[in-house]
Amino acid sequence: MGIRYWQCLIFAAVAGCAQMNSLPEKAPLPVHPIAETDPVATPHDAADDSAIWVHPTDPAKSLVIGTDKQRGLHVYDLDGRALETLPDGRLNNVDIRDGFLVNGRAMALVSATNRSNNSIALYLLDPDSRRLVRVGNPVPTGFADPYGLCMYLNPQGEHYVFVSNSDDGRFRQWRLRADGATAVADRVREFRVGSKAEGCVADDETGALYIAEEGGGFWKYRASADGGNVRHQIDRVGGGNGLVADIEGVAIWHGRKGRGFIVVSNQGADSYAVYRREGNNSFVGLFRVGDDVERNIDGVSATDGVAVTSQPLGPHYPDGLLVVQDGSNLPAGQHQNFKYVSWREIASVLGLANEG
Ligand code: CA
Ligand code: CA
Ligand code: CA
Ligand code: CA
Repeated sequence: MGIRYWQCLIFAAVAGCAQMNSLPEKAPLPVHPIAETDPVATPHDAADDSAIWVHPTDPAKSLVIGTDKQRGLHVYDLDGRALETLPDGRLNNVDIRDGFLVNGRAMALVSATNRSNNSIALYLLDPDSRRLVRVGNPVPTGFADPYGLCMYLNPQGEHYVFVSNSDDGRFRQWRLRADGATAVADRVREFRVGSKAEGCVADDETGALYIAEEGGGFWKYRASADGGNVRHQIDRVGGGNGLVADIEGVAIWHGRKGRGFIVVSNQGADSYAVYRREGNNSFVGLFRVGDDVERNIDGVSATDGVAVTSQPLGPHYPDGLLVVQDGSNLPAGQHQNFKYVSWREIASVLGLANEG
């Protein structure tokens, strides 16, 4: 705040400073992690993105899939224990959608960008064994460096995946479909965000596609294959709501009747911005994940990927679970990991307890 205030005094003629002076940024409100995952396999900047699988009948058996962008995927339980590791390459971002029909059986389909061979890696999640099974061939992206990834399941039951190229802000979209026991991909769309973008999420109910341009805008596109370049800016870095580059992962907490909330990792300020899912996606507020002394879990900084579900996942997560990557896992020397936060606490601190 201090530096901005002086910048405003010095550059008093710049539009927006008057508003900044009259509306000082509110400090992000703290929430606390309930659990943290086992550290990822490799040192330095390695953990990145996550996806949550909700078990169809027993919420306690739900899973978190996390990327180690130097090595592959880890699958964690709700206590954060690593159950499975797939050393399949430099898997950067991951997402999941249910309802992928393989030989007549609906399975959860997982996809991840693989920077080792510039492809999309595909997996099915076996609900009985709770393990990931590789499916199909890696899908070539044609990108020099595939980076962000998110999935979309449209109302007709068609699965899609979006992938960005790291340097130029290009996105491509593929339709994913089963072919016998395997999965294949057909490219259907390409568009340009303008500059480097990684975090994205599709809203399966509304057909919106949200993209965080790391040093630029927070955008709303259409997720349908004919969505083209049409977009609406929800917010932007430096725009007055406290977004500081890079803005990173994006996730949706689905409430009832089209309501809910969108969470954006505000990496440059070690916080998260929350917007309403409905209407014009108005800004709600900022929160951060502090430490939990009683549980001996360190707080969270410099988050890359985020994932959230509104499904109740047992007594710790009655209104759902937020998973965030932690850029610095203490005690010092530990590899990076992911922290779990109860949505109920986030809703409480933001004054949203009776909403959604
Ligand atoms: Ca990034
Ligand atoms: Ca990242
Ligand atoms: Ca930390
Ligand atoms: Ca720790």
